Amino acid sequence: MAKRDYYEVLGVSKGATAAEIKKAYRKKAIEFHPDKNPDDKNAEAKFKEAAEAYEVLSDADKKARYDQFGHQAFENGGSGFGGGGMNMDDIFSQFGDIFGGGFGGGGFSGFGGGGQRRVKGSNLRIRVKLTLEEIANGVEKKVKVKRKVQAPGTTYKTCSTCNGSGQVTRITNTILGRMQTASPCNVCGGAGQTIDKKPSDADSQGLKVAEETVSIKIPAGVVDGMQLKVSSKGNEAPGNGVSGDLIVVIEEEVHDKLQREGDNLHYDLYVSYPDAVLGTSKEIDTVTGKVRIKVEAGVQSGKILRLRGKGIPSINGYGKGDLLVHVNVWTPKTLNKQQREFFESMREDEHFAPKPESSDKSFFEKVKDMFS
Ligand code: ZN
Repeated sequence: MAKRDYYEVLGVSKGATAAEIKKAYRKKAIEFHPDKNPDDKNAEAKFKEAAEAYEVLSDADKKARYDQFGHQAFENGGSGFGGGGMNMDDIFSQFGDIFGGGFGGGGFSGFGGGGQRRVKGSNLRIRVKLTLEEIANGVEKKVKVKRKVQAPGTTYKTCSTCNGSGQVTRITNTILGRMQTASPCNVCGGAGQTIDKKPSDADSQGLKVAEETVSIKIPAGVVDGMQLKVSSKGNEAPGNGVSGDLIVVIEEEVHDKLQREGDNLHYDLYVSYPDAVLGTSKEIDTVTGKVRIKVEAGVQSGKILRLRGKGIPSINGYGKGDLLVHVNVWTPKTLNKQQREFFESMREDEHFAPKPESSDKSFFEKVKDMFS
């Protein structure tokens, strides 16, 4: 069945404000709530449909993607809810924000778990540049991070509005009857604590910025753009809250000799005409140091020498990629008189006429081999 447009599901226009979207969803959630429509599959489907629409339209980032790409934005592994849709637990957990904490947990009419929320500090993001060698071997990086920490001398006291519970409860009359609802205390933000004393250089939450050196263990095999999380090294939270995380974004520096393709590496090796004819050995760069490789006499330009296990270790810990050395025979552009005479004398020599054998695979066959 084709999915209905999320705006249509909630009955709002595309230009609706966040408040209008929230209000429209509340209305739908109450209308189709399972408590009000027992054993009604149609109502349940509508209830889930509205929850899914709200999940997207209430999130600025998801909404922007939906506005641009429609439902396709969340298909095929997009960070939406592929296939199965939202389950009832997801939907009820959403209700904490819509109706207040009283609707949390598993029920609509119950007085859910709620309780004091642990306030979490915000996450910090840093970029870390790594060489290919560091990526291949894994590395521990020390980085300076400016993070908010609780200023020394700051003290907290129990919030007098909610008496430390982090919630305020109230009785409301709804179309479902009288209900006790709880919502986060807006004085302490749900933390149950407020500032007692703080030094003059602290902000309104009793925090100040401090520079700290954080050590980050980066495993071998990371990829450009990958994000690693260092728990609790983001901004601290006030009071008894928990620190946010430090998000480390990996940036891979361009290597001047090696090119990465997944876990494999490529190296362009240039050999002179005489070396190609006579054979030689060459020193090449790898991510674990230089190695000397043998170039057979009569090597053809375009030949690929595979050095097994000299690539990048898989990030999952299974095996390593290879280093593929591409042989390029360097043809001189100019010749002196003596050289010219030599090559001209060889032009008609049968021995120099190309006679490709089956082992001298064409470029396309080599590419095919590499991916098989
Ligand atoms: Zn409070």
